[in-house]
Amino acid sequence: MPSQPNSFEIRMPGWMEDFLAGRADGFPSDRDRMALVISAARINVARNTGGPFAAAVFESGSGKLVSLGVNLVVLGKSSILHAEMVAFALAQKRIGGYDLGRAGLPPHELVTSVEPCAMCLGAIPWSGVRRVVIGAAGSDAQAIGFDEGAKPGQWKSELEERGIDVVFGVMREAAAQVLTDYAARGGKIYGPRN
Ligand SMILES: [Zn+2]
Repeated sequence: MPSQPNSFEIRMPGWMEDFLAGRADGFPSDRDRMALVISAARINVARNTGGPFAAAVFESGSGKLVSLGVNLVVLGKSSILHAEMVAFALAQKRIGGYDLGRAGLPPHELVTSVEPCAMCLGAIPWSGVRRVVIGAAGSDAQAIGFDEGAKPGQWKSELEERGIDVVFGVMREAAAQVLTDYAARGGKIYGPRN
């Protein structure tokens, strides 16, 4: 077994740079933001670079895109590389700090194509975002065999108690369609041991 690595890199798929090039970086509405995220999830599947999930961090007020992540679990050989985790890591690298809610920054939000799993849900309060916008439901992901993990039953109100608003079902059908298309083409369903 090789010795422990000295670093850990998250490398985005080759198509991402072109995907973002020339795109407006202002996304005024929840639907504008979700549409971008869903099209990234769709391309991630079409290019065979990962699972049918994407997530982005935006400045809530201006709608400026801060980071766009896609699921890289298989490509990046790491169980932590869910789209939300990738989006947080890239956004925090971009702002040069671990806290997207730190003083002096505008409020940030996470827009995710599918309801966060247990891991990504746990990462939300630590990230500093003040709002979460969700496309497809966890049950849509479970319907094709993905596991959400054990989440507290009251997770939405627990986030809201921490001052993090949660919005469900933005473009749910389009987001869920990416999941069913992935399953139909025989995409790999990875997850925790049963
Ligand atoms: Zn996750």
